[in-house]
Amino acid sequence: MKKINMIVDVARCHDCNNCFLSCKDEHWDNNHLPYAAAQPRLGQKWRDVLYVERGQYPLQDVCSLSYACMHCDEPTCMKAAKDGAVYKREDGIVIIDPIKAKGQKQIVDACPYKAIYWNEESQLPQKCTMCAHLLDNGEWKEPRCSFACPTGSLTFFYATDKEIAERVKAEELEYLHPEFGTKPRVWYKNLFRFTKCHVAGSVELHDKKECADSARVILTNVASQQTWSASTNNYGDFKIDKLEPNSGAYTVTVEYPGYASQTKDVKLQESINIGAFYLNPCS
Ligand code: SF4
Ligand code: SF4
Ligand code: SF4
Repeated sequence: MKKINMIVDVARCHDCNNCFLSCKDEHWDNNHLPYAAAQPRLGQKWRDVLYVERGQYPLQDVCSLSYACMHCDEPTCMKAAKDGAVYKREDGIVIIDPIKAKGQKQIVDACPYKAIYWNEESQLPQKCTMCAHLLDNGEWKEPRCSFACPTGSLTFFYATDKEIAERVKAEELEYLHPEFGTKPRVWYKNLFRFTKCHVAGSVELHDKKECADSARVILTNVASQQTWSASTNNYGDFKIDKLEPNSGAYTVTVEYPGYASQTKDVKLQESINIGAFYLNPCS
């Protein structure tokens, strides 16, 4: 059977917040029973957008990441609920029953993704429904948030387990926080932009006062001796990405034909711009 899935491509997210706004528009002050009671105007973001900056000027980058309930296949919220107040549908959508869940605040704390909000006024735990009310009436082929995303960062689709397994492999999809062990039905692409770090810098041919295009850069982890390599672009800049934060000591060596190579030491805690290498001709 095909079930719901969503892919969030972090590299395509421009932090426009259309997804958040469309969710508010659909659910604020609108009861969609029996799927969900109305979302309050303030205090709840069933879909939120997180933001990080990596590195330092002028070689820093920014990244935003949209997230909501992951509609997990092993949802801890469901285990914490009494009287079947949280249930998983055959299509994979996890719903908090707005009648049965009344007063069950413990459901909020059971979600490791912090995707559930407590509505003090109605005494209800509330979260993303994957817009099941729209999908079920057949008029919508996807939820409001993915429909509103202008960049294709959010992609909603139905797939069998086999199909999604193939796509996960081909597109290198990952879970956000796999350590939570809840088997989300939401997958992330280019997640390294959010979770990993980079070493960046630039290379100049000192005698010519020119950017060194296509210089070879070799990064070596001192402890493991694992290496990564890159070439500078036509501005003389390089960036080696997908590195583990707080992963210890590295050396960065730069080589360019006819010039003496240079090495810098780096202690990698978070993304870093190690500055310029000024290469001198071999004597
Ligand atoms: S993300 Fe949280 S609220 Fe959503 S299904 Fe998983 S455990 Fe439940
Ligand atoms: S799927 Fe619907 S309820 Fe869930 S975040 Fe998107 S718009 Fe909101
Ligand atoms: S609508 Fe799309 S691009 Fe805009 S913040 Fe949401 S996920 Fe990112």
